[in-house]
Parts: sequence; C-alpha cells; structure tokens
Amino acid sequence: MTKYVFVTGGVCSGLGKGITASSIALLLKAKGYKVFMQKFDPYMNVDPGTMSPIQHGEVFVTADGCETDLDLGHYERFIDEELNYTSNITNGKVYSSVIEKERRGDYLGATIQIVPHISNEIKNKIYEAGKSSGADIVITEIGGTVGDIESSVMMESLRQFRNEQPLENTIFVHTTLVPYLFGSNELKTKPTQNSVIELRRLGIQPDIIVTRAPVDLGDSIKKKISLFGSIPIDNIIEAKDVNNIYEIPLNFHKQQIEDIILNHFKLGAAPSKLKYWEDLVKTVNNLKSEVEIALVGKYVELEDAYLSVKEALKHAGYKYKTKVKINWVDSESLEKPDADIKKILGKSKGILVPGGFGSRGIEGKIKACNYARENNIPYLGICLGMQVAVIEFARNVCGIKDASSREFNELCNNPVIDLMSDQKAVINKGGTLRLGNYDCKIEKDTLAYADYKSELIKERHRHRYEFNNKYKEELESKGLVFSGTNPESGLVEIIELPSHKHFIACQFHPEFKSRPNRPHPLFDSFVKASIDK
Ligand code: GLN
Repeated sequence: MTKYVFVTGGVCSGLGKGITASSIALLLKAKGYKVFMQKFDPYMNVDPGTMSPIQHGEVFVTADGCETDLDLGHYERFIDEELNYTSNITNGKVYSSVIEKERRGDYLGATIQIVPHISNEIKNKIYEAGKSSGADIVITEIGGTVGDIESSVMMESLRQFRNEQPLENTIFVHTTLVPYLFGSNELKTKPTQNSVIELRRLGIQPDIIVTRAPVDLGDSIKKKISLFGSIPIDNIIEAKDVNNIYEIPLNFHKQQIEDIILNHFKLGAAPSKLKYWEDLVKTVNNLKSEVEIALVGKYVELEDAYLSVKEALKHAGYKYKTKVKINWVDSESLEKPDADIKKILGKSKGILVPGGFGSRGIEGKIKACNYARENNIPYLGICLGMQVAVIEFARNVCGIKDASSREFNELCNNPVIDLMSDQKAVINKGGTLRLGNYDCKIEKDTLAYADYKSELIKERHRHRYEFNNKYKEELESKGLVFSGTNPESGLVEIIELPSHKHFIACQFHPEFKSRPNRPHPLFDSFVKASIDK
C-alpha cells in the first residue's frame, strides 16, 4: 500500500518548500523506503518548456524526456532517483487531458465540471505516480501558496484524496514563515496561524508544520503555533536559515521528522543511513581553495536560469575540496565593439557556455569560445555551447566565414548547425524538441572516453538543431574530433580538440545527471582542468 506525503506552502513563496519536500524524501529513503517525488504546478502551461527562463528559471529534463519545473532538479539531486513524466503535473496538463477525453466522448454525455472531473484527474495523477514508480512513499509538493485561486482545485483534490484513503495513508506537511521583527525583536506567529486557517478553509488540517525562521523558535512560540495550529508540539519542525542547503535534511533529522511521518503511516523504522550525507555537508563546509569559472549566457542576472549547471560545477568542486566561484558573464557585453574580452574573461580559469535558444547574445558566446580556444583555457560547451564551438571553429579555423546555425540565420549559406530532419515538419513549439535520453557511442582514445571510461552512455537532451554532418570531414581535417555520436541516427553528440589543453562540448545536458556526491564526468574533468590551470 503506497503512502502519500503532501507538502503545501503558506504565507509566501520562496520558503524552500521544494527543499523541504526533497529533505523529507531523502530522510525516508535513508530509512530504507523506496521513495518517489512529484510536483504540482498550478499554471495553465502544459509544461514549462514554452516558458522563458525569466518567468520560470531553468527547464529540467527527466530521462524520459519530460520538460519540468526546476524543483525536480532539487528532487533528483537530493534523492538520487530518476523521476519521470508523472513527476510534474500542471493545471494545463490536467485540463488538456480532461478536454481530450471529453472530445473523445469518454464521459458519455456528462456535464464536465471542475469537481469531479478535474479533481478526479488530479487524484489519478497522484495514484499513477504511486503505481508506476512502485514506491512505498510518494512525496507530492504543491506549487504556489495556499489561498491562490490557481491551486484551489489541486487543494480540493488533496482533501478528497485524504478522505478516500485510510487516515494513516496520507500526511500533510505545511511550510510557513515565522518572521522576525527588528525593533520589537520578536518572532511573529500570526502569518503561520493565518495560513493554517486558510488551509482549513479548504478542508485540510496539517499534520506537521515546517517553520522557516531566521532564529530558533523557542518554547513559547512553538506552544503558540501548536495551540492555534492544533498539532502536537513535536510536529513543529524548525527550518532555520542555513548557509548550505545540504544541512537541511540533517536539521530535520535531528527533529525526527521522518519518525513522525513513519509513525503516522504505521510503518517501522530502521536506523537512518545518513553517513554519506553528513560527509557531504562536512566537505561543503570545509572547502580549501577556490577556482573562478566564467559562465557565459544571456540570463546571467538570473542564476536560476542555469541552476543545474551551477550545481554541477559546485559538485565537481566538492570532489577537489574547491569552491567554484562562477563569474556570470552577459554574452551581449562581449559583443560591444569596445569590449575588453581579456579583462572580462581573463581571471577565469575555465569558460563554460551553457544551453540557450534564439540569436540574442550569440556572437558574444562565439567570442568567448574563441578566446578559450586561442588561449588554451579549459572550455566546456553544453548544447548551444557545442553549436557555438562548431561555428567558431568553422569560421576561424576552417575559414568558412559565414558559418552559422539555421536557428540564427534561416538563409545561411553554410549552416554547420542545421534543423534536424525530423524537426522540419514540426509546427507546435511545445514538447517537440529532441528530448530526454539518447545513446551516445564514444570513441576510444579521446577526452570523452577518458572522462566516461565507457563506450556507450546515455544522456538527456533538449534541442531542435544539430551538427550538420556534411561539414564533418572538413572540420575533422582541421583537427576537430567527433568523439561521441548517436549510434542510430549518426547525430553528433560530443566534439573535442586534442590540440587544446581541455576543450570539449556536448549536444546533451550533462548537468541534469550530476549529483552532490557524484559529479558528472564532464564537469569533473572540466573543473579539474580549470583548477590545474
Ligand atoms: N537552440 C539550440 C537548439 O535548439 C540549443 C538548445 C539548447 O541549448 N538547449 O538546438
């Protein structure tokens, strides 16, 4: 019988609901249970794939090719389990599947209503996650804040879900803010009280309250929250601000949140296996040196747009007890005629060009790549970063001056990056990229092989354009090595430059598979090369 943990949020967004949900999952996994995670996003987009990173930060891609909320990246990094298409449910996804069924005639003459049709569809998505994952415990986080119009039907579905299951099968965890008022120097519980009232208005009584606060709550504050929230004092879990997010599961563990949950579920509890996580926290808190790496993108004012890349760099740093300091470089700043590239990039020991879409800032990225290649500075190109490296090499080494990508110049005479053949007939933008896991065969005696130590790998993709194989021989003759290719389609997956200290780029997104205690091989060797530099 699968058990369900629902994590809701009150007062305001940004309290760390995703980290709370991930920490709970991690702690339950550490007790030996198989866990699975799911995020409900109350917007009407079917998935975040069509949203600008300015709206929504990075789009995280699961192995099965689902474009999802960036919180799923936190989930995977914390629980180290592969999630899938049942892990991110949006209002858009729910409504479109109900409307599709209605058009098909599945409802046999009924009037389609929010309750029960939409609410049933949402409940089905929760049951489906439980069934398809075979998990003992599913942790579902509801995006947004209690009281939002958008999430009201999701909350209604949770209320119904609790009612149709034995009480010990579901538990509600509510995260809230306990602000500290300077001047009167006190913590305030009213926002928490009000958000619990709001939750009850929707028919849900929380079982656990997780309080975000800058300082310890103290007994009297806890008693007050317990009294007004009608929950035992032990079920108030403090989420005090921390410098290092990896400490949060350990702080929750000290307050025995997993035991409270397992007791409620009437499940036994073995001792927790958390040594690996404690070691990680120790490592992160005791980094000995620092390396500066330039990340050249067009949304650098918004670090969330590159969240997984940022995390993957940090993970690789942990392995070498080194803090990776990211120099966020706006690619457009490199395009200005008077831009001093050396000054902007000079102090960085490695240069990374991440994924991206559209032509804005492209020439700046090409310049950054050129600077890395000509100055023997370690380079890692990811997706667009590989395409940019190909264009740079074609233009400046092979002399194909007008080399470009069909994405930036439709009429381009030398499209070294071109639209994939199966993309030519695609009209809809949403969900139609080359997405998720594809095989990549790696050539021996290459940097890629030295990194992966394997001839066949699988990596996650999210792109529409590809290297144009017509130019392969020409680029190869000038020294570019195609070290990874998809065995079925022949699409280029990895390129590298053996004449360079460390120059490698891939068409896929390695950042999604990096874990805090298991850096991704491409990030590992890139960060190491940058440190050595
Ligand atoms: N815009 C490029 C493409 O669609 C690269 C995509 C990416 O970097 N994720 O192929």
